[in-house]
Amino acid sequence: MRTRYDVIVIGAGPGGATAAAELARNGLTTLMVERKPLPRHKACGGGLPMAVGDLIPEIPAGVVEATVTWMRHTWNFQDAVLFPVNNPDSMPDITLWMVRRDRFDEHLAQRAINFGAELADGLHIRHIEAEGGRFRLVGENGWSATADYVVGADGANGITASSFGLRQKRQIGIAMEGELSYNWDRADHPDLRPEVLHLEYGRVKHGYAWIFPKGDHLNVGAGRMRSTTASSSRTNLEEAHPLGDQFKAVVEDYLNSLGIEGREGIRFYAHPLPIWNGPEPLEAADGHVLLVGDAAGLVDPLFGDGILNAIRSGFIAARLILNGSAAQYTQQIQREIGRNLEAARRLANLFYRFPALCYQVAVKRLEMTRLAAQLFCGKVEFSEVAPLALKRIRTALMRRGNRSYSDQTDPTQHAGELG
Ligand SMILES: Cc1cc2nc3c(=O)[nH]c(=O)nc-3n(C[C@H](O)[C@H](O)[C@H](O)COP(=O)(O)OP(=O)(O)OC[C@H]3O[C@@H](n4cnc5c(N)ncnc54)[C@H](O)[C@@H]3O)c2cc1C
Repeated sequence: MRTRYDVIVIGAGPGGATAAAELARNGLTTLMVERKPLPRHKACGGGLPMAVGDLIPEIPAGVVEATVTWMRHTWNFQDAVLFPVNNPDSMPDITLWMVRRDRFDEHLAQRAINFGAELADGLHIRHIEAEGGRFRLVGENGWSATADYVVGADGANGITASSFGLRQKRQIGIAMEGELSYNWDRADHPDLRPEVLHLEYGRVKHGYAWIFPKGDHLNVGAGRMRSTTASSSRTNLEEAHPLGDQFKAVVEDYLNSLGIEGREGIRFYAHPLPIWNGPEPLEAADGHVLLVGDAAGLVDPLFGDGILNAIRSGFIAARLILNGSAAQYTQQIQREIGRNLEAARRLANLFYRFPALCYQVAVKRLEMTRLAAQLFCGKVEFSEVAPLALKRIRTALMRRGNRSYSDQTDPTQHAGELG
């Protein structure tokens, strides 16, 4: 392994592996450093927008464990609706892929290696310092190397952002997931099928709970899209920890509501969700240090997904480094991703403030499920639909606001409130 690189990418998640692949493919000496040995577990639902397939075309069939074409929504485990995500009268063009992150991320890292990137996994970067116009990265056991560029793809609490004073506007939600072995022959509930994704809105404040189908298991979890403290400063997982027991209780009730038994021993993993919180600088040192994916806070404020944007930002970072315009990175992210997330944020603010109303006027409508799937899959931009959707919700609010849906009587403030 050399000690001098054009680019060192910290983190081998989807953002880092994508950037490393593009950089190496175009001839730059590139090192990916990952603190955990691959394959590693990553707390994640593993719901993948199919648009990822346009960006990374060669995903092996086995990595995608289920393809979702139906969504089942509930409010407090009741008032269920089950909708197809495609219009039966036209060619199906939407599927949501379900992956296991250990396999998916390992595939992306291997892809980067195949393009010529080096991987140092099981190596934790502890320190980054400027040195003679370059950067020295120092890891455990005295390891160090230098690079012209550093790509911080090191996730929600990455060292790159803190080392360069970036991400001052952080908004950190939290999500938790676990896996439950599942044999699809069991037929506990007629809607429990490999092509159906389940979402529950009434029991998690500022978020939702889910059950995602996978090959031999269900991925179950809950997430909250807001910081657990009002402060914009760094929120650590320990502060948010009390939510863990409440998330587990919601998941337990969710599984009960579908008649799923035998669920002892689910091991839960919690992880911060760095939600998009408006434009802010995402590069330092004249574009020689760039943040991608969760490190840049590119998680969608409505759905809480971040894989697609991690991959997109990995491509953008690589492209700008390669064409010598990395100082434009923040503006480019704002143009290609931020504007859309900004519209998602406006929708999320209203949705999570009045979830009961939004469940009735939006979620329970077939065309809204289709639209949500299109948004999640990157087929439609939030910025295209937000003005109309906001208008519709506000109109409904005005019509019903004096009755049961006012802020004060929002059911999530009383039942199952989390945090
Ligand atoms: C419970 C949960 C469920 C989720 N479900 C979904 C979902 O269904 N769909 C979706 O799209 N998104 C989901 N997300 C969000 C998604 O997981 C992230 O947005 C995505 O992983 C971001 O990718 P990334 O490459 O930016 O960072 P990560 O995947 O977090 O990768 C960062 C990597 O950097 C490494 N690292 C960190 N610091 C260092 C260091 N100092 N030295 C070396 N290595 C380091 C880490 O070990 C890690 O492997 C979920 C998140 C959570 C918490």
